[in-house]
Amino acid sequence: MSLKDHLLAQIALNGPLSVAEYMAECLMHPEFGYYSTRDPLGSQGDFVTAPEISQMFGELIGLCLAQTWMDQGKPEQFALVEFGPGRGTLMADILRATRTVTGFHAAAQIVLLEASPTLRGIQAQTLREYDPKWIDSASHLPDIPLFLVANEFFDALPIRQFLRDGDGWRERLIGAEGDSLAFGLGPYGPQVALSDRLQDTKDGDLVELCAAAIPILTVVAGRIATHGGAALIADYGDWHSLGDTFQALQSHDRVDPLAAPGQSDLTAHVDFEPLALAARAAGCAHTRLTPQGVFLERLGITARAQALAASLGGSELESLVAAHRRLTHPEEMGNLFKTLGLYPSYAAPPPGLEP
Ligand code: SAH
Repeated sequence: MSLKDHLLAQIALNGPLSVAEYMAECLMHPEFGYYSTRDPLGSQGDFVTAPEISQMFGELIGLCLAQTWMDQGKPEQFALVEFGPGRGTLMADILRATRTVTGFHAAAQIVLLEASPTLRGIQAQTLREYDPKWIDSASHLPDIPLFLVANEFFDALPIRQFLRDGDGWRERLIGAEGDSLAFGLGPYGPQVALSDRLQDTKDGDLVELCAAAIPILTVVAGRIATHGGAALIADYGDWHSLGDTFQALQSHDRVDPLAAPGQSDLTAHVDFEPLALAARAAGCAHTRLTPQGVFLERLGITARAQALAASLGGSELESLVAAHRRLTHPEEMGNLFKTLGLYPSYAAPPPGLEP
C-alpha cells in the first residue's frame, strides 16, 4: 500500500480532503509521510535551506540572539528554542558562534520542536555534546524566557485554500478522479475567518489560511511577553498574501503536488501578517518584516565572509562567495525570504530588525 492508495481509500470513505488535511498526511503520516521517513535536506535531498548553504547564517542568527539576551540583562535561565530544526545544522552553528559569549551556554536549556522521528535522530547526532530536549507541541515550551528561531518551519504547516465566489467562498479540495487525485471545489458558503478578506479580494481570487500557525505563535508570543526573550521567524512569504502558493519540490524541481503524495516536499508561502497580529494580541511587540538580505547585511555577513575568505583559496573561496550571494542577493534568497522578530514591548528589538 502506498500513501496514494491510503488517501484514495480515505476519500472514498469520507469524501474529499482539504489542502490542509492532504498536506498533513503527506508530510507527517507516521508510515509514509515525507518528513517522517527521510532526511530531505542537503545536496542529495529535495531542497536546500539557508543554514545548509553556509555556516554564516547560523553564526549571525546566534550572535543576534546572544546580543538580545545581553540587552535584556542576561536572564540566568532561558530556553534556546528551535522549531523544525532539520538536521540540527542551524542550532549547531548558533551554539558554536556563541561559545565565547560569557554565561550564554550555561544559562541555555536547548529545546527542539520536531515531529519527525528520522530528523530527531539526526539532530541528536549533530547536537550530541549539548543535551537538547525535544517537545511535541509549542504548549510544552518551558515557562522561562525564550530565545527562539524558526527557519523554514511555518511554510511546512498545513494551509487551507479558498476561492472567492461573490460574497462567499468555496474551499479548494482534493478528491479522486479514477485512480488519480484531483483538485475540486467545495460548496459555496460564508467563511467567518475570511470576512476581512472580502475587502481586498475580488471574484475568482484565491486566499490561503494557516490556522495551525496561530496557536503556536500565541504560545511563543505569550511566553516572550511574560518572561522575556525574542523569536526570529524566517521563511519565504509576504505580508497579507494573495494567490495560490501551494507547491511541491522534488530533487530541487517544482512538481505536481498531487502526483506522488509523500514523495515531495509540500509547502506554502508564509503570510506573516496574521502571525504578527497573533503576536500583538498576545501582548508581544514585533519588528517590521525584513528581507533576509537586508537582515544579514545589517548583522555583518559581508565582514564575516571576508574574515572566512582570508584563510580560503580556490574552489572553497568560490563557494563562499557563491553562498554569500545566494543568501543575500535580491534575485536569490535575499528578497523572497524574510524575517519577523518578536520581542517584549519594554525591550529593544533584536539587532538587524526595526520596530
Ligand atoms: N530549519 C531547518 C529545516 C527546515 S525543514 C533548516 O532551516 O534547515 C522543516 C522542518 O520542520 C523539519 O525539521 C520538519 O520535520 C519540521 N516540521 C515540519 N512540520 C512540523 C510540525 N508540524 N511539527 C514539528 N516539526 C515540523
